[in-house]
Amino acid sequence: MYTLIDGKATAAQIKAEIREEVEKMVASGQRRPHLAAILVGHDGGSETYVHNKVLACEACGFTSTLIRYEDNITEAELLQKIDELNHDDDIDGFIVQLPLPKHINEQTVTEAIHPGKDVDGFHPTNVGRMAIGLPCFISATPLGILTLLQRYGIATSGKKCVILGRSNIVGKPMAQLMMQKQYGDSTVTVCHSRSANLKEECRQADILIAAIGRPGFVTADMVKEGATVIDVGTTRVPDASRKSGFRLSGDVCFQEVAPKCAAITPVPGGVGPMTICMLMLNTLKAGQGCE
Ligand code: NAP
Repeated sequence: MYTLIDGKATAAQIKAEIREEVEKMVASGQRRPHLAAILVGHDGGSETYVHNKVLACEACGFTSTLIRYEDNITEAELLQKIDELNHDDDIDGFIVQLPLPKHINEQTVTEAIHPGKDVDGFHPTNVGRMAIGLPCFISATPLGILTLLQRYGIATSGKKCVILGRSNIVGKPMAQLMMQKQYGDSTVTVCHSRSANLKEECRQADILIAAIGRPGFVTADMVKEGATVIDVGTTRVPDASRKSGFRLSGDVCFQEVAPKCAAITPVPGGVGPMTICMLMLNTLKAGQGCE
């Protein structure tokens, strides 16, 4: 019987721990950590993500500020606001919700955020510091996966870890973390759309992390008996039986893969809830003046 890695319960537990820490800070005369979020336009997904981040701030006892702009804001105006937030001592960390409208360069915006306030961990300074094992803000999704592995006592040191996907926000930072001695300490293979023998690579994995955005891609014949499988994929697939008209589908064919696993994350309720929770953890660190 496999262990179901419950990201929802773990995230709730961590948010309660953060809240306890915040109340201690307040009792000792410090102010609450303060997260600001900039939301440009009215993209449905972004609205939901930012709304959930504001709710998570409340659950953790943080102060939060939502700054909204219409999608005709110029890049210069947005950069001006980022500069203000960089210099605002009342704000510990802030995020600019992506994606941005096409006329705004996301990389320019990401690099304009002061690395010490970049609680999303996307600034090249944080990415680079993470890659060489220095204190930094680690981006939320890979940090959430690492935290799930740790909290479920899944051994990673010396194990073979295969990561599907090489994006900047999941695959690459995940590979860095799993490889490093102070984090995963694993032997890591990264597969992508040009990888030869992908199935054979996956079959070698003690820990298989799928982050490609292809519903049901990982099938039972790709998984070693007793492996741990982490499903990062969250693709919206049409589902007329749902009020929303869609459901979230993972990259793993759960029904057939789960019986072969020692442990596995579900979708939804696995990696997803950990992502916002790790943003909260980074904000707590920012509020405590450390990265
Ligand atoms: P992405 O930027 O689209 O990258 C996808 C990666 O998968 C690329 O490296 C691509 O290879 C690889 N890939 C695509 N099809 C493949 C195939 N058939 N075989 C092997 N590799 C393949 O995606 P992402 O932003 O990393 O997101 C991946 C998934 O995770 C999405 O479903 C996304 O919604 C989800 N996600 C979830 C969370 C969460 O909090 N739960 C957070 C972030 C992302 P190439 O590089 O060769 O193109």
